[in-house]
Amino acid sequence: MSPERLVRPEILALDAYAVAEASGMVKLDAMENPYPLPPALRRELAERLAAVELNRYPEPNPVALRRLIAQRMRVPAGMDVLLGNGSDDLIQIITLALAKPGAALMYPSPTFVMYSMNAAFSGMRAVPVALREDFSFDAEAFVARMREVQPALVFLAYPNNPTGVLYPEADIERVIAAAPGLVVLDEAYHVFAGRTAMHHLPRFANLVVLRTVSKLGLAGIRLGYLAGRREWLDQFNKVRQVYNVNALTVAAATFMLERLEVLEAQAADIRAQRARLGSALAALPGVTLFPSEANFFLVRVADAAATHEALKRQGVLVRNLHPGLRNCLRVTVGTAEENRILLDALKEAL
Ligand code: PMP
Repeated sequence: MSPERLVRPEILALDAYAVAEASGMVKLDAMENPYPLPPALRRELAERLAAVELNRYPEPNPVALRRLIAQRMRVPAGMDVLLGNGSDDLIQIITLALAKPGAALMYPSPTFVMYSMNAAFSGMRAVPVALREDFSFDAEAFVARMREVQPALVFLAYPNNPTGVLYPEADIERVIAAAPGLVVLDEAYHVFAGRTAMHHLPRFANLVVLRTVSKLGLAGIRLGYLAGRREWLDQFNKVRQVYNVNALTVAAATFMLERLEVLEAQAADIRAQRARLGSALAALPGVTLFPSEANFFLVRVADAAATHEALKRQGVLVRNLHPGLRNCLRVTVGTAEENRILLDALKEAL
């Protein structure tokens, strides 16, 4: 029997999310923190993990970890926290919950592909609204489009992936105030931007703030969190798989959040590396650099496919966004050494 006959057309039309083979490469394609944990901390963590009772199901909605996140991440009083298997999981949960027949999901474009993919998964109508040529946000056009479309759900990545642009706070407030539905502010890169909308939660009943620990240095444990009013989170909690966050993740996240300063120091270092890499990339002939408030840069080159391949041959993996984004590559900020290798390889490749 052919799957084509039974699988929904929206799914048949999708390309599978592709992740490149990276072993032995300088890996600058996925916005990871390039620094491993210090060895002494790894040993201590191993002890903590060894104590986890793997024969038991995890706590279904981990109370202590949620409380720790609320405290360390300055979630305003009166707001609750819901956990996900990465923020990808929470994007799917929110979308599934709001996918009434005919409901629209709106987002500035280009942005994180999972918003449109989840619209397809859940049967929502995806409505992208183009960013300006320089990837800045046209709040007026977005609000006007919202009036026509009346979206149930709006995703704003703050800062945006893959452009690195952090929209003006006043524009964000304007969109939330004008939105007829729920606005998810996706702050996956907040540690690199130094700005958040968390403090706006008490003011707007239609706002939730989505975060992840992935970019902070814990991409491997898969933990996302959603901060917002209990009324929203109670509904999303019904959609969540009961054990979506496993016991090892809970233990590792708790351990690291108790030592958040280690990861914050790494993030500060990445911000310093970003400034250096940005200046060096901007000075390269043949490269157009877009300013970034995240831990990556979007660059435009004459031939993205050729440059991507040439970098790969030299052992450097970046993300090729062409043809979606014409001749654009996205490069993650690495260690000083990794950035030097990238720059040398780029000089060679261009
Ligand atoms: N939101 C944005 C804007 C992202 O760029 C990413 C990952 N690249 C995510 C969410 C998902 O992150 P994770 O599932 O690792 O938490």
